[in-house]
Amino acid sequence: MRIKIMSRLFVALFFLQFIFLPPLQADTQIRVLVAENQKMLKVNIRGEYQIRVLPTMQLVKKGKGLSDAWLVPTAAGVRIGHEEWACRGLLIQPAEDRDLVIGRSGFRGAISILKDKNNLFYAINSLDIERYLYGVLHHEVAAWWPMEALKAQAVAARSYALYQAAVSQRAEYDVKSNTSSQVYGGSTTERYRTKRAVNLTAGEVLSYQGKAFPAYFHAACAGLTAASSELWNISLPPLAGGVKCSYCRISPHYNWESRVPLAEIEEKLKKYGRPVGRTLRIEIISQTPSRRVGRLRIIGTAGEIVVAAKDFRVWIGGDKIRSTSFSIEVREDAIYFHGKGWGHGVGLCQWGLLGQALLGKTYRSLLEFYYPGSQIALNAATKTS
Ligand SMILES: [Zn+2]
Repeated sequence: MRIKIMSRLFVALFFLQFIFLPPLQADTQIRVLVAENQKMLKVNIRGEYQIRVLPTMQLVKKGKGLSDAWLVPTAAGVRIGHEEWACRGLLIQPAEDRDLVIGRSGFRGAISILKDKNNLFYAINSLDIERYLYGVLHHEVAAWWPMEALKAQAVAARSYALYQAAVSQRAEYDVKSNTSSQVYGGSTTERYRTKRAVNLTAGEVLSYQGKAFPAYFHAACAGLTAASSELWNISLPPLAGGVKCSYCRISPHYNWESRVPLAEIEEKLKKYGRPVGRTLRIEIISQTPSRRVGRLRIIGTAGEIVVAAKDFRVWIGGDKIRSTSFSIEVREDAIYFHGKGWGHGVGLCQWGLLGQALLGKTYRSLLEFYYPGSQIALNAATKTS
């Protein structure tokens, strides 16, 4: 046991030397990729607005109210109705927050609409991080959950977002609006109680020894949280995993089963460049420290491969293989997975958060529980109104 702890400590120290940890006072603006691969986009603006061309930022249009205006990519630039500008894209800046609607979603802040190499649009929403969180929280947890659970989720989501904003400064955007970052639905999906949780914790960020860290979270750990080093090249004490959590037993995702046809497995393995023909057998050949599946051997009619379970899960789909805590049975024309929990298992367990908040725990104790050794610091650069 001691050897195991020592080896994990060594791994933690090894990675600590190489990982870049940004300071707490990160930029308060965040850039969210909210649309991509769009042939055209419909824009509505209620009040006054300005439109600038990118990348020069030259003001080309301003007015009050824009109704069902279609943005169309052209060979030279972008067209709205009869007006066309030679550019890479447009920056739309409404004077008032929440006046902008793209497609069916309302947005706070400004939106850049840019053309990709295939002449299709992608859109980046830039806004204050607190207002961004208004559009995140309801998607990550239910608005009816106890306020202490919502507050803990707000601090975790803010910490994750601030970290991403700090480490992606050279990239075109900081986060995506789907589960590959954290889900963001614009201003249309804000709820009163989740907004209140953001306001009650305004500017509060998790830190470890004064540095920000990506406060990962997942739906249900089903007994034991995973170490971040089991999945990514990052290791810090608050993300070292091994937190025992039985509180997520109330989750409908605590136990799950799924069936994936052999034909689908064959097709996915081929798609990801690891074909084995028709699958005959799957063996679990290693476990992670948090007792999830580490590596799998897949034996097929045309060969065999060894794959990491975390990759296999992504290939087949996170909704079908909800976690890497599973056993496998190959029967007739399908593989049957019997699993526990939902998500990668690192950091905060959201259903555990609910279970503990129902027992009367405060958000501070909940964050300390799931991110051991962390503190809550005030991000002085963060403003709310
Ligand atoms: Zn849990």
